[in-house]
Amino acid sequence: MKIPLRPSRLIVRRQTVKWIILHHTAELYSAPESKIDNAKYQMPGLFNGVLEQKTADINYHYVIDKIKEDYVPVVCRPFIYLCEWSDIHDDINKRAIHVSLMGDYDFKVAEKRLYEILAFRVLNPFMKMFHISPNKIKFHNEVSSDKKLTCPGDFLDKEVVISMVRRFVIK
Ligand SMILES: [Zn+2]
Repeated sequence: MKIPLRPSRLIVRRQTVKWIILHHTAELYSAPESKIDNAKYQMPGLFNGVLEQKTADINYHYVIDKIKEDYVPVVCRPFIYLCEWSDIHDDINKRAIHVSLMGDYDFKVAEKRLYEILAFRVLNPFMKMFHISPNKIKFHNEVSSDKKLTCPGDFLDKEVVISMVRRFVIK
């Protein structure tokens, strides 16, 4: 099954990238079964969501999923298009790249390797390219108007994210 490509329904980015927002995919699902590693709520589930909800695309630029032995960032929406988050102020969202971790990090602890892949393959290249400092990496709950939001999960550690970013800094 292939997701339909609907670029005319996506908004083209007009401003340079200044923020990187981190999420977990559990926020998309209210079903309790999504809280465990349930194949239905993994990558095929995201694609089915686009087909069923007739949205233009998956509402993250990248999703990092564990494929076989290792974590892999998957391009879900080309970053030249904006993602749509009504709870995030336009001043931030129009300059943001959205990266989501597959799963529920209110429920499970992130492996060290996930932090490494996130920093090395996604965060550091964008930081270098767009001159983004570590304080412009935000958790969704830090920039949301929804004060009860836990995304990207209580078990995701911002300090570890920042320390990995410092480890892989590109000179
Ligand atoms: Zn989120």
